[in-house]
Amino acid sequence: DPQLNPIYTFENFIEGDCNRVARRAGKTVAEKPGASSFNPLVIYGGVGLGKTHLAQAIGNETKRLQPNKVVLYVSSEKFINQFQDHSRNNAINDFIHFYQLIDVLIIDDVQFFNRAEKSQDAFFAIFNHLHQSGKQLILTSDKPPKDLEGVQERLLSRFRWGLSADLQVPDYETRIEILERKMKNDGLEMPREVVKYLAYNVNNNVRELEGALISLLAQSSLNKREIDLDLAKRVLRNFVKTSSKEITIETIQKMVCEYFDVPYDKLLQKTRKREIVQARQITMYLAKAFTKNSLKTIGEHFGGRDHTTVIHSCQTVKDLMDTDSTFRESVMELQQKVQLAAM
Ligand code: ADP
Ligand code: MG
Repeated sequence: DPQLNPIYTFENFIEGDCNRVARRAGKTVAEKPGASSFNPLVIYGGVGLGKTHLAQAIGNETKRLQPNKVVLYVSSEKFINQFQDHSRNNAINDFIHFYQLIDVLIIDDVQFFNRAEKSQDAFFAIFNHLHQSGKQLILTSDKPPKDLEGVQERLLSRFRWGLSADLQVPDYETRIEILERKMKNDGLEMPREVVKYLAYNVNNNVRELEGALISLLAQSSLNKREIDLDLAKRVLRNFVKTSSKEITIETIQKMVCEYFDVPYDKLLQKTRKREIVQARQITMYLAKAFTKNSLKTIGEHFGGRDHTTVIHSCQTVKDLMDTDSTFRESVMELQQKVQLAAM
């Protein structure tokens, strides 16, 4: 199954207090899909904490134990895109029918269902059918189900039927174990004090921890030198400097300009050209979502517009995302870029 990546296993998913409940529930689900009370199993947690890894591990383990089961892993974005394709071709029933034949359905990042009303209707039908037939659902989300905005209440109430388990930032000991496992898998070695130094200082999420390790390895081979504490300190100085950077309105403005190929000064002026207006609205929407600035401050960064303009822009973007799938894709892509830049 191409959607499942065999590198994600339970074996490689280090257990700690941060993930014990979710990991064990995942194992149970893989052993007895559809037959435990963990249905759906909802795994939630912040970025880089292992949601995709664990969801994929459940899929791989199910397949290993029960090769005849039909397991499907899909991101919610892909689900929505597929739905919209079928909808354009008047083939919604085929779409729903396809999904109703699955034994174990894994949908990653359901927060992106936000406002995709028609896709949610389809998912509702699929969910009901699978659940009633004793099939297993596994969902991941970046926040607990109760905080999912723009997802229909009838879906949220079903998400609460099973078990919601969170993933938290691994503690120091678990971070050491994760680093050691990665190194062992890749046949690498480095001094214990360096492992400790990384585990101690890189403490936001696991993806960042892996990033630090990769930077360090790259630097050591560039410099043709052994990894020691001194090199680790130098690498981490740069790493931390670029990685924990607070995202600013200016950063988002520049990213949007680059993405749409719009000149920076045009974005700030009162140009009424449609593409520029749209780029400006998206920028305000992203600034609202990704920075802690007030509406007033955001408006001021666009040549002194007032907060009602910002509110209007955010609403326009939300509405367009609902009705225009190309527009929606652009915004989602930008969202991902900003998210990465904020890591
Ligand atoms: P998310 O989907 O929550 O953003 P991912 O599943 O993509 O996070 O995890 C980010 C990286 O961290 C992946 O490379 C994953 O293998 C690794 N990772 C996360 N948690 C663990 C863990 N407990 N043990 C080992 N690796 C982990
Ligand atoms: Mg993920």
